[in-house]
Amino acid sequence: MCITATGVVVLNSLLGRCLDPENFKQFKLVKRIQLSHNVAKFTFALPTPTSVLGLPIGQHMSCRGKDSLGEEVIKAYTPTTLDSDLGHFELVIKMYPQGRMSHHFREMREGDYLAVKGPKVKIFDLSHPTYLSHCYFPQF
Ligand SMILES: Cc1cc2nc3c(=O)[nH]c(=O)nc-3n(C[C@H](O)[C@H](O)[C@H](O)COP(=O)(O)OP(=O)(O)OC[C@H]3O[C@@H](n4cnc5c(N)ncnc54)[C@H](O)[C@@H]3O)c2cc1C
Repeated sequence: MCITATGVVVLNSLLGRCLDPENFKQFKLVKRIQLSHNVAKFTFALPTPTSVLGLPIGQHMSCRGKDSLGEEVIKAYTPTTLDSDLGHFELVIKMYPQGRMSHHFREMREGDYLAVKGPKVKIFDLSHPTYLSHCYFPQF
């Protein structure tokens, strides 16, 4: 069996999930809470109160923003919410003084939109002998 990014797009659409592994989608920042001097929790709304983000446990997504020079930057982030949390997702972000994507998050205000793509899909062949050997005969 082979799982591809296109397969994930079709599956996500069938299951009403929001993320698209091939295209960035915009999500509105509805709440920002400062947790410490350089860490904040960002809550983003999904299209409807019952929408599911569509990010399996252990996977991450790509967020796109602009650095202090206005140049595009894309970094990986893992939400602190699960797909069982409907209608929204949360990111807890540590912002570094010189960080490029940190600058984008530092500047984000409620009502702004964040471009997100994911899950970051690994294309793998479940019938491949290497995969099977790692699955059923873990290497220690
Ligand atoms: C799978 C994955 C999931 C992630 N999830 C999260 C998440 O949920 N929340 C989150 O805050 N980050 C997360 N990260 C880290 C995130 O992708 C960025 O690397 C981070 O936000 C810094 O990016 P930047 O562009 O602001 O910094 P950069 O421009 O890449 O770095 C600029 C400077 O910032 C400092 N810096 C950057 N990263 C670190 C670090 N890790 N430790 C110490 N100093 C550093 C260094 O001084 C560095 O020179 C994740 C990374 C991965 C790979």
